[in-house]
Amino acid sequence: MEYYSSQISRLIEQLSGLPGIGPKSAQRLAFYILNMPEENAKKLGGAIIEARQKICYCRECLTLTDSELCPICGNVHRDHGIIMVVEDTRDLAAYEKTGKYEGVYHVLHGAISPMLGIGPGDIRLKELMQRLQGEVKEVIIATNSSLEGETTAMYISKLIKPTGIKVTRIASGVPVGGDLEYIDEVTLLRALEGRIEL
Ligand code: ZN
Repeated sequence: MEYYSSQISRLIEQLSGLPGIGPKSAQRLAFYILNMPEENAKKLGGAIIEARQKICYCRECLTLTDSELCPICGNVHRDHGIIMVVEDTRDLAAYEKTGKYEGVYHVLHGAISPMLGIGPGDIRLKELMQRLQGEVKEVIIATNSSLEGETTAMYISKLIKPTGIKVTRIASGVPVGGDLEYIDEVTLLRALEGRIEL
């Protein structure tokens, strides 16, 4: 990387730290950015800084948002008695794209993984249990179908069962090890409609 000036190297280094970006892609992106009109480069930099500064967790569902309550939790037309539990904000976005789900969400920010040393206390489960003290009719567990997602689903269902609240799990059809984010909307809808009671 010493063929480049220190400023260029710094940009390449920063970009190559992003997920999925190898050294070659980082170089390609860096030169693309350097060839942008200055105005566009400023917009890009500004968007990164502003997003990072303004983003916070919704006080209800804990999704990443830029206000105290996210637009979903703030919407009175949504059914606040149905809570879909997802691993992260990208999964929430995947279900929102179907346009057919009318309940609200709870974002765990991870999944239980004994292998990685991630226990129930490391994800946002306590907050979910607190929410269940309100008027909740159903909790739909939509964690991924990976080992971690299944472990988390089982743990949550055991936790909720004694409360008498209905607990369901999205149907298979979502491939094992599948990342919800990459699954098409039709499959997601089918998985939601075919959910089974645990
Ligand atoms: Zn919210």
